[in-house]
Amino acid sequence: MRTSLLIAALLIAQPASADWFDDIKQNGSATDLYRVLHAMPKGGDLHNHLSGSNFSEWLYDLALEEKKRGYVYFTKVRIENCVAYGSDEYGSAPYYLMFRTIMASEYEALNDCEKREYKSLEDLNATEKSGWLDSIHLDKPYEGRDEFFGTHWPRMNALGWNPWIQAETLYLNMQAFGAEGLSYLETQVSVAGFVNPDGTPMPSEQAVNILRERLQRDDAVATGVTVRMQISILRFLPGAEDHLRFVYRYVHDHSDLFVAVNMVGREDNDKGYPLRFLETLRDLRRQYPGVKLSIHAGEVDEPNDHVRDTLLLGADRIGHGLNLITDDDTMRLMRHGPYLVEINLISNLLLKYVSDYAEHPFPEYLRTGIPVALSTDDRGMWDSTMTDEFFVAVTEFNLSWEEIRTLSRNSLQYAFVQPGVKQQLLREFDERISKFELGMQKYGLARLPPMPPTRRFICTHYELCTPNAR
Ligand SMILES: [Zn+2]
Repeated sequence: MRTSLLIAALLIAQPASADWFDDIKQNGSATDLYRVLHAMPKGGDLHNHLSGSNFSEWLYDLALEEKKRGYVYFTKVRIENCVAYGSDEYGSAPYYLMFRTIMASEYEALNDCEKREYKSLEDLNATEKSGWLDSIHLDKPYEGRDEFFGTHWPRMNALGWNPWIQAETLYLNMQAFGAEGLSYLETQVSVAGFVNPDGTPMPSEQAVNILRERLQRDDAVATGVTVRMQISILRFLPGAEDHLRFVYRYVHDHSDLFVAVNMVGREDNDKGYPLRFLETLRDLRRQYPGVKLSIHAGEVDEPNDHVRDTLLLGADRIGHGLNLITDDDTMRLMRHGPYLVEINLISNLLLKYVSDYAEHPFPEYLRTGIPVALSTDDRGMWDSTMTDEFFVAVTEFNLSWEEIRTLSRNSLQYAFVQPGVKQQLLREFDERISKFELGMQKYGLARLPPMPPTRRFICTHYELCTPNAR
């Protein structure tokens, strides 16, 4: 035991030479590189919205399975012009939105004309099903943030109110991330707004207990992925301060599972500007210890002070931080820590915050010593994986093996999980990555698993398409 510990310590102290990685980058194929990035241990995903991280086929299957609990779903497959004029296309239930999914209780309340516009999810024909599955993907060149912010959530709608679907998607994400070599997931969830099969409200505590119970089952434990959660609030709503008070207290009172509060919602809606929440957070800090903040900031096209202001709010991590590059003083402040920027390369491209990776500030942050980690954001809607994020980073920015290792380690080092658990995760990561490096040095690609099935983003954008790709 002592000897193996000593060997492990030596391995960590002296990382294996990474000539093998340079050789694969220079002489290998894109498939070779992808296999390496898929097989390597990767640390954690620190910026992940559970509701946006689900592949649409998961949601479809889970929605049908929920019939056993009495949840039955209908979706809009045609427009019969039942509402002549005056529909609210700017609200949460736009009339002309195809593939908006509702519960049976809402369906039953519709008039006969509107009922004809909907079909039960299980009755969709092949074309309608494929339309439903694609309706929550950002897969067309003309789609961007308006499609994402304005239609994806209104389409999923009632599926997001089912606590069992939330719990089951958490498990599926753990399984998928575990298979990619991740050991930690810090996902953003909601703890309010859940309903019973008849549409009546379900108390938060009951919905959270469903999540907890799912996490403790053997198959979830077997994924090897440790999970902690953040609760997010929509920052631009009129009652956002009250919601912030509720979730802050909730995280404090449930600190075994919930570790942080986040603020989400498009930043170009200026009603959610960071300093709006300064007094509320100062008041909350007078009352509750131990609640961390990771907050979306700088995910905009214009230069502004959002990252700096968000640090003043007390955030230890910044989501996206794209326009930090325009704020020289804050750039200086952030060099060599202690704050981390959660980088979401695929998200930023598909939501058109960068039109090309040459515009992305990630390499400047990484190579001036600003702590960064790669994360997946709403990967279900990009139809992508964590391996894809690394593939984009290596391909676009020529990452060294040392940098890949740093990114993965940062994703654990800057996690909000309890310190003892974090140390254990870091120890295990160091051992796994050292073992992986030795294996690569000794055997090269020979002992790596074959090319895994790829998903649509990496197939469309990098021509890495496998026959069994979705
Ligand atoms: Zn996000």
